[in-house]
Amino acid sequence: MDYTVVWRVFQCKNPKCDFILKISEDDLGIQSNINKLLKCPICGTVNSSVVEEAPRWKYCRVCERLQPLENFHRHKFTSSSFRSGRQLECKECKNKEINPYLNPLRTADQHRESSEHRRLYGFLSGEDKVNSKKIYKKFNGECFKCGRELPFEEKNPKEMRLDHTLPASLLWPLQCGPTLLCSDCNNKKHGLWPSEFYEEVELRRLSVLTGILYKLLAGEPRFNPRAVKWLVKNIDEFLARWIKYPDEIKKIRKMIIKFESIDIFVKARSVPAFLRSK
Ligand SMILES: [Zn+2]
Ligand SMILES: [Zn+2]
Ligand SMILES: [Zn+2]
Repeated sequence: MDYTVVWRVFQCKNPKCDFILKISEDDLGIQSNINKLLKCPICGTVNSSVVEEAPRWKYCRVCERLQPLENFHRHKFTSSSFRSGRQLECKECKNKEINPYLNPLRTADQHRESSEHRRLYGFLSGEDKVNSKKIYKKFNGECFKCGRELPFEEKNPKEMRLDHTLPASLLWPLQCGPTLLCSDCNNKKHGLWPSEFYEEVELRRLSVLTGILYKLLAGEPRFNPRAVKWLVKNIDEFLARWIKYPDEIKKIRKMIIKFESIDIFVKARSVPAFLRSK
């Protein structure tokens, strides 16, 4: 399924027919078979003129529902992989699935929970320490997004942040190439894929500074393939160690199925029923 394709969705213009036609803009771009495309398969009416005014729809990658483009947040960055100009997940899914990691205003309970998350995600991504002074110097002591000058803060940073660049929620480790950000920009960026947050010129510069391939930064969000591979291979060991976080495990499994079409339980010797349930 290509979640970047835009569909024109409309009812057949024959008042006696209630068939809904769904035609991709990609197909509409090929002029030669246009009449065949616009022909209603039920009544045979050719729906030219209707198609131009038809609303533009696309599929959500998470819930897989076909919805009007207005249900998707705009994408900051237009390229062939984001030709709809919209994000891959609908607003509803974005709030449900991704924002728990983004929310900068956390209650004490959420804080405790999130440090557990961090441990779990740190374990999976293979997180290791990074030399923060080196990163700070590399970015010239300035927030990469807004350019604000930042004090160097080794411990308990207030303003200076080392952003994951590639989100921890998708199991990427910090040492992959962190970005120096101020705390405001970090709160906005947190959990987003670089292409969802930075402009094209920024992505090119970021690629040079972090050493992360431009193609990866500018593409669609994806899980760290090494972490996914590790999970599939060592799922029994993983479950034994982290079984006390069933909701996280279910979430990670569901997200990896959606994003990468891989079920991390495929090689598991035994999985408790409560982890299987939705
Ligand atoms: Zn019809
Ligand atoms: Zn959705
Ligand atoms: Zn900033």
